Amino acid sequence: MKDLSLHPCFNEGAKHKYARVHLPVAPKCNIQCNYCNRRFDCCNESRPGVTSSVLLPFQASLYFKDLKQKLENLSVVGIAGPGDPFANPNETLTTIELIAKEFPDMIFCLSSNGLDLAPHIDRIARLNVSHVTITINSLNIETLAKIYSWIRYGNKYYKGSGAAQLLLNKQLFCIRKLKEKGIIVKINTVVIPGINDQDIEELARKVAEMGADTMNCIPMYPTAGTAFENIEEPSREMMSRIRTQISKYIKPMKHCARCRADAAGLLGQDNTAAMDMVKQYSTL
Ligand code: SF4
Ligand code: SF4
Repeated sequence: MKDLSLHPCFNEGAKHKYARVHLPVAPKCNIQCNYCNRRFDCCNESRPGVTSSVLLPFQASLYFKDLKQKLENLSVVGIAGPGDPFANPNETLTTIELIAKEFPDMIFCLSSNGLDLAPHIDRIARLNVSHVTITINSLNIETLAKIYSWIRYGNKYYKGSGAAQLLLNKQLFCIRKLKEKGIIVKINTVVIPGINDQDIEELARKVAEMGADTMNCIPMYPTAGTAFENIEEPSREMMSRIRTQISKYIKPMKHCARCRADAAGLLGQDNTAAMDMVKQYSTL
């Protein structure tokens, strides 16, 4: 029987005791956020969308087995990119299947932009995925049109307000469907000063009303080569004001470590050894 309280991201008490691993099996993305540059990696980089190498499902399951022996306190298997798990559904779901067969007590956690998640919710519930994160950055279509340069849905590309509305509709639908399946839902919101910082309280109210369990507001990291590279990182004061605002409606998550797509170990811990293992397993 799984003990969901051992998830270090969702239970602050487990943070110093239990480890998580992100398996970088999902390289493609179905949208372009104006703060993300997945081409850029360096050893100091610590944020989602970044990985040292990409693994195939069989490589990821062998890497996991090896890591599980090294890290006895490993409680969570997460897939968070380096693209979107559901722009790579076969890789994502095959990886979970392979690991769940041998390690049914692991907690499975997925993090997605929500665009292509809905058709897979029944299957992820059957696979006992207990935690899903959806990144939603606003309810305001004008704001969203500034954040996403395009989305690809089916075989079509969308831009501007059409893209924003389609993405938001899919994201909100997924919250309800995930909750119907009893899955714990976290909302990630990237705080972008001057773009969406005024929208976040309303977003918190809405997602809480829809049943989301917690909300993680992440300061945008201005990344070279992106449309938002010249926007300053939000100040501590802005982050603290926003966390106070959202806490009126939903439990804020305060200890996010802005993990890479190949993070492993305790939250916030040095990732170098895991990066070397991922590189090694990617050559099998
Ligand atoms: Fe899940 Fe996010 Fe924690 Fe990774 S960082 S294990 S995706 S909650
Ligand atoms: Fe990057 Fe994630 Fe946005 Fe895709 S959804 S562009 S991987 S931040």
